[in-house]
Amino acid sequence: MAAALPPILDPIPAAAPSTWSEDSGTEERLRDKHGRAITDLRLSVTDHCNYKCVYCRTGNEGAQYSELPIEEYARMVRLFVSLGVDKIRLTGGEPLLRRGLLDLILEIAKMRPAFSRSADPAALDIALTTNGHLLAGMAKDLKRAGLNRVTVSMDAVDAETFSRITRVPGSFERVRDGIRAAQDAGLGPVKVNAVLLRSFNDHEIEAFAEFSRKEGVIVRFIEWMPLEEDRTWTPEAVVRMDEIVARLNAVRPLVALPATHASETARRFTFEDGLGEIGIIAPVSHPFCGHCSRVRVTSDGKVRTCLFSQSDHDLVGPMRQGASDDELRARIRKIVDRKEARHHIGEPGFLKPSRSMVHIGG
Ligand code: SAM
Repeated sequence: MAAALPPILDPIPAAAPSTWSEDSGTEERLRDKHGRAITDLRLSVTDHCNYKCVYCRTGNEGAQYSELPIEEYARMVRLFVSLGVDKIRLTGGEPLLRRGLLDLILEIAKMRPAFSRSADPAALDIALTTNGHLLAGMAKDLKRAGLNRVTVSMDAVDAETFSRITRVPGSFERVRDGIRAAQDAGLGPVKVNAVLLRSFNDHEIEAFAEFSRKEGVIVRFIEWMPLEEDRTWTPEAVVRMDEIVARLNAVRPLVALPATHASETARRFTFEDGLGEIGIIAPVSHPFCGHCSRVRVTSDGKVRTCLFSQSDHDLVGPMRQGASDDELRARIRKIVDRKEARHHIGEPGFLKPSRSMVHIGG
């Protein structure tokens, strides 16, 4: 039985309605058999990464899956957009390592007017998740190509701890400079994602709150999930939402913020003085599968309906065999229809997914 939530966490406040509408020129919106609307595509453009974060990768060069030509990713995005998907997140591996990334963003940005008659750029949200190592040199070009915003993964605000996590010396300064460059380029508000590991970086919770207040970023703590290449995950290593809330509250009282949209995964907070924003994403202690709106495409062109899927579904194969857009849309509908109801982390008989996070696209 989960411990009772402190009142600040309950209930999730109401969300703003979606921008998608029946007259937006798209087909009927994608929906699974559980009635969830699928509006959010995460596309992995490579599964190479220049970091070897201890909670994600083994530290050895493991097997890589293949990457597709940029045009094939663009066609896939177009198909999903025509099915009502209005949020595209480019990820990896490390997406900034992918040659042709700017061309892909330019292509996706061109889909905006087709998607929305109002040609409102916000109607097709293009976001990117990055470790930030190469961001300082790319932020302006990313913005110019049409990217709306970035999420940067940064698991410590202490340089030494961060290098121990990434296994790359000097990574903290690079990433912090990348965050600042993204803000200057207009890719904000920048979200900073931090996975907390017990006895590794959990002493930094309060320092992250200060970082949010000082740097003007949204810090989001993510509970560690069993998606690593190694078999190192244990429930005891997960730093859970209730503990994070209690620790932050002890320093400065938190104030709950409303969800920004119906499929919001983070519980959002600010502090009494309104300075700083903290999100907590708690897939382990407070799963949100019931309002999951996501579907993923891996760098080798497979559709995954859940991070914890036991298999994935080929999309690039039929594309290369000459399937029409209508046939591919029908295939996507069929795959999405069978999206898993929920994950089973922590339950007896839990099976690790068929791929680890770096090979899925987080
Ligand atoms: N390289 C990019 C980055 O670092 O953001 C994109 C890929 S990375 C796999 C995407 C996100 O997944 C990162 O925020 C990372 O911290 C998170 N992640 C990786 N493994 C995870 C795990 N086992 N549990 C929770 N989050 C994880």
